[in-house]
Amino acid sequence: MKIIEACAKGLRIGANAPLAIQTMCNTDTNDIDSSAAQIMEAADAGADMVRLTTQGIREVKSLAQIKERVRNAGYHLPLVADVHFSSQVAIEAAKVADKVRINPGNFAKEHTLAKKAFSELISVCKEHGTAIRIGINHGSLGERIINLYGDTPAGMARAAMEWLRMCVEENFFNAVVSLKASNTVVMVTAYRLLLEEMKREGILFPLHLGVTEAGNGDTGRMKSAVGIGALLSCNIGDTIRVSLTENPVNEIYTAKIIRDYFTDTDSPGHYAHDMKTVGDYISKGEIPKYGMLCNSREEYLVKYALLFGPLLLDRKIDDFKIEGPFSEEEADFKENLLQASRRKFTRPEYIACPGCGRTLYNLEEVFNEVKRRTSHLKGVKIAVMGCIVNGPGEMADADYGYVGEGASKVAIYRGKEPVLRSVPQEEAIDRLLDIIESDSKADKTGRN
Ligand code: SF4
Repeated sequence: MKIIEACAKGLRIGANAPLAIQTMCNTDTNDIDSSAAQIMEAADAGADMVRLTTQGIREVKSLAQIKERVRNAGYHLPLVADVHFSSQVAIEAAKVADKVRINPGNFAKEHTLAKKAFSELISVCKEHGTAIRIGINHGSLGERIINLYGDTPAGMARAAMEWLRMCVEENFFNAVVSLKASNTVVMVTAYRLLLEEMKREGILFPLHLGVTEAGNGDTGRMKSAVGIGALLSCNIGDTIRVSLTENPVNEIYTAKIIRDYFTDTDSPGHYAHDMKTVGDYISKGEIPKYGMLCNSREEYLVKYALLFGPLLLDRKIDDFKIEGPFSEEEADFKENLLQASRRKFTRPEYIACPGCGRTLYNLEEVFNEVKRRTSHLKGVKIAVMGCIVNGPGEMADADYGYVGEGASKVAIYRGKEPVLRSVPQEEAIDRLLDIIESDSKADKTGRN
């Protein structure tokens, strides 16, 4: 078995390298001051790598300036260019960034053209020592892959394999792969299938793990802990990102709790989660209360999700209890965890992107307001997405979507269809609720 260790200019990824933590700026990449400041803040908090949205040549030039700024300030962590569609932008970004994140399937509609563009990118990356992340997200699979394999975890894994095979053919091994989804079961299944395929072919590329569009607050943290934890507990994963619709620095704190839970400090790179301890808890069917195990509320809820979430997700347990009388908060943790593990749905399911340089409105504020006004809608899947370019694809199977559409304008989606366009932002949440309410009335009338 060939085990690949990638390297983003100094940061080793995969094989026996320590688990790396990454985040992404939510600043405008062309705002050099804010982006550089956010990278340095993330690095101070413990980020090993930071990604910036790099959608065009202008952003590539800004990235070069940002890089110079942070290097001059003494920060040497790798900077990753997040390029979605254009192979030309990816090629230019590969000359500047330490790593580029792309989905080669988006380079062209025609597969042969996409392969040609990917091959060109590989040549530039070889020349400049730049790493590549092949980032394939559920909800944004190309038409060809969906026709061949369906919009499924298997489709995600096979799409990734096509590009990894091409890396092998081109003798390029500085690559990492990710298969993110907001649904934790889809995400975990996709990575496991990919691992099986890679093993069958005798080559293991490093894996970057993340639950995408996880939202914020307790539920965002728990979803990430369940998905990432289910894989790390089986020794799968080399870098992680906890995507939150919050300040990127907050992602680092949560990611560190996850990393430390699984990392054997005597032997970095080896996970030493004490399964006996878990076994003891499970045999007793209970875990100690907050305070006996952790130093903060966040640490408690993340560890709690890491302890039981993967077991719930894999259906190894159906339920659990916490020692002593149940507080309201603990009951809430439990309901959130059952939903994050996709075992029991008792509240709305929120899908929200973390925001990036493409976001032109206060995503966190709007998302919190949408949550506040829809908290009664049990079982309804509501997405709040930063941009119209990637938002509609990435919100996957949401029932309704609030999608930023340029400055101060919003598109409202029902499923995959935009039902209202260019809604002024001040009215957009009202319009979203009108549509949900009128659908619910129509449903009731239909049932009667
Ligand atoms: S969906 Fe959100 S995170 Fe993704 S590109 Fe658009 S604004 Fe950025």
